[in-house]
Amino acid sequence: MFDLHCRTCDQAFVAGPSSFASLHHTTDGLIGYARCPTGHVNVVNFHVRVHPVEAEGSRVTAA
Ligand SMILES: [Zn+2]
Repeated sequence: MFDLHCRTCDQAFVAGPSSFASLHHTTDGLIGYARCPTGHVNVVNFHVRVHPVEAEGSRVTAA
């Protein structure tokens, strides 16, 4: 479940699995299209929520 905000009707709503019209893997990560209760489609960027920082430089290798 995700707490989202519809840009069109300017109200908060909770999106469950059935609220997502589609999911897409992009070069920037996973994005989804979630419908608010009124039916507006909002883009959700999962990579921003799940992986706020994922830099290759942070990887540490023990020698
Ligand atoms: Zn809406």
